Amino acid sequence: YVRLEDHTRRKSVFVPGDDADASPSNLESDAIATGIEALIGNTPLIKLKSLSEATGCEILVKCEYLNGAGNSPKDRVALSMINHAEEEGLLVPDRGDTIYEGTVGSTGISLAAVCRARGYKAYICMPNDQATEKSDLLLKLGATVERVLPASIVDQNQFVNLARRRAQDHTADPSKPGRGFFADQFENTANYLAHQTTTGPEIYAQTHGQLDVFVVGAGTGGTISGVALAIKPLLPDLKVVLADPQGSGLYNKIKYGVMFSPTEAEGTRRRHQVDTIVEGIGVNRITRNFEAGMHLIDDAVKVSDRQAMMMARWLVEKEGLFVGASSAVNCVAAAAVARRIAVEEGQRGEGKRVVTVLCDSGARHLSKFWKAAGDVGGAGVEFTVDEMLDAEG
Ligand code: PMP
Repeated sequence: YVRLEDHTRRKSVFVPGDDADASPSNLESDAIATGIEALIGNTPLIKLKSLSEATGCEILVKCEYLNGAGNSPKDRVALSMINHAEEEGLLVPDRGDTIYEGTVGSTGISLAAVCRARGYKAYICMPNDQATEKSDLLLKLGATVERVLPASIVDQNQFVNLARRRAQDHTADPSKPGRGFFADQFENTANYLAHQTTTGPEIYAQTHGQLDVFVVGAGTGGTISGVALAIKPLLPDLKVVLADPQGSGLYNKIKYGVMFSPTEAEGTRRRHQVDTIVEGIGVNRITRNFEAGMHLIDDAVKVSDRQAMMMARWLVEKEGLFVGASSAVNCVAAAAVARRIAVEEGQRGEGKRVVTVLCDSGARHLSKFWKAAGDVGGAGVEFTVDEMLDAEG
């Protein structure tokens, strides 16, 4: 085994070598662990029977909504960023420190929960067009929430820029206790390192190294980069595919090597706010976390809101899975990749394995994504996977 430093400081993580028994039971585990940190990571990987049967490939999903602090993959990231900052002396528990973050929700929720457990306060800046479930939850977790108008990254009141400024102002203000720390999930590399040392090795171990494609969307890019960096050196033939929602510029970057010009990006960002109901993924800039693994991304798939809504309903009807928007986008892209494999190989993709991620629960998206997607109702879904993949945005 190769021992990787576990950036969530959760448990020892082992990446199986060539001749190793890669069963997850080889991961060290304590019978009784202490506190919510023990609920972070080691999430199940399950096969989606309906999508596997419909596409011919085996489609597996990593159930990241089962992380038990803030119920998303961001639990791993929050823990990793806090551990790094503590190691560097930037955060000291019970000194009165406050962690500031710009987030569309998930990272804020994970930070707020871990902050409570570690003796910090959380101050979250988020755009006011995100589902209210997330800001309500943040308030219940004791975070301070500042909701701001959606704005471009060049605007000083954009949610990430505002969080950075609030942290600086806190540290500079002698009347405030402790210090302000800007977590900075988009640029802080403790983000992708959490996925490189935990999510990626877990997927490798759970599949016994048998996987052909990993497909996932990118918000900060931490998941796609970290998992690609963990698994590609062990499996050079693995294809890493970006799932990109409408309105995002990353698809063009991967497919054609170009982002939009700043003016076009601005226009797209505005369309993005108006047009897409998918939260958490899709951006129009290259963050440090995306950049870290960008060279390992082989392809990209564009997913429309309509396809995401159809997939969300399909997952309820056929699998009993009630997921959020980004999870639905991931599954559409996984099905599209599976169908492409079948077409390219002139056969059904028997024996091929596609792995993706379920990020969060539909309960966090009731007022926005699921309001638009509607109820599944007694009639269930009346479309095939092929019709879903062919559906226009
Ligand atoms: N899904 C949801 C619900 C998210 O909030 C995010 C992150 N903002 C992602 C997916 C994307 O993950 P990453 O930041 O690792 O690219």
